[in-house]
Amino acid sequence: MKAASFAYVRPATLDDVLAELAGGDGKVLAGGQSLVPVLAMRLGRPATLVDINSVEGLDGLARDGDVVRVGATVRQRTLERSPLAAAVPLLPLALPFVGHRELRSRGTVCGSLAHADPAAELPAVACCLGATLEVAGPDGRRRVPAEEFFVGAMSTGAGPEDVLIGAEFPIAGAGEGHGFAEIARRHGDFALAGVATRVRVDGDGAVQQARLTGFGISDRPVTRDVTELLRSAGPRRAEPDLRAATAELAAEIVDTGGDAHGSTGYRRRLFAVLAARELQKAHRRALPTATEDPS
Ligand SMILES: Cc1cc2nc3c(=O)[nH]c(=O)nc-3n(C[C@H](O)[C@H](O)[C@H](O)COP(=O)(O)OP(=O)(O)OC[C@H]3O[C@@H](n4cnc5c(N)ncnc54)[C@H](O)[C@@H]3O)c2cc1C
Repeated sequence: MKAASFAYVRPATLDDVLAELAGGDGKVLAGGQSLVPVLAMRLGRPATLVDINSVEGLDGLARDGDVVRVGATVRQRTLERSPLAAAVPLLPLALPFVGHRELRSRGTVCGSLAHADPAAELPAVACCLGATLEVAGPDGRRRVPAEEFFVGAMSTGAGPEDVLIGAEFPIAGAGEGHGFAEIARRHGDFALAGVATRVRVDGDGAVQQARLTGFGISDRPVTRDVTELLRSAGPRRAEPDLRAATAELAAEIVDTGGDAHGSTGYRRRLFAVLAARELQKAHRRALPTATEDPS
């Protein structure tokens, strides 16, 4: 199929972008890696594509205090290759799973967040880390915690007249470790189930806080504080000791219906295994004597 006809504009300022989006018939075009297939399959018929790639100031990628700030037109591959990504260890763990390198060279970080595919990696990273998203709209700018931004499948707190102008990812502190894994049928496919984890320990290695975000398992990323779950697994936090608790968690939060790729039960089992494994890894990486394991 071919896309239905649309107008195309490429404003140079954010004000002009917002003026073009006024009325709600336009769609922001960032990297086009999701929007163009949507148009080609006629799953969407916006009157106007508002290309934001020439807007000055949206391509910033910088450390700003205790966050790494990623502007709306920063490509996924640019972030993946930037030394700044190391300050937010979940990013280099997750970015290689986002489609293929060629797609990441065009696709933007904020485009992935705005698209809000429930099986996408970057929304899960944003939720696990407690990232903040900056949205500009007709009533000005607002800052939205990632966990509040994702409200359903392909649905966010940004309305049709809004633009996501940047995302702020907190820089990891001392005593933090992270884990990330997903299972997909082929590399580059969207995940059947995946998890992002973050564990913080004190100087003696005692667990202070543990967070886990599942993706591909519901209509949006689902985040839980799993501090007690991790503590209850005993001092070794061994994966088999965690498995019963993550299976219980899976029964609570994995509600994606079965499809040709796997049943709900299968996704629950995937989630339980991945969650136990990535919590254990994050804990190990957080310890003061952390050494990278080969697994
Ligand atoms: C074959 C294939 C495999 C893929 N696999 C994966 C995968 O495994 N994981 C994954 O996460 N993604 C995957 N993707 C999607 C890809 O990563 C996209 O780059 C990403 O989802 C959207 O980024 P984009 O910059 O291309 O956005 P676009 O395609 O330009 O836009 C996507 C949507 O977000 C809106 N939007 C974009 N930017 C903004 C903004 N700043 N403010 C408000 N709205 C905005 C658009 O209006 C549109 O509705 C895949 C895509 C393809 C074609």
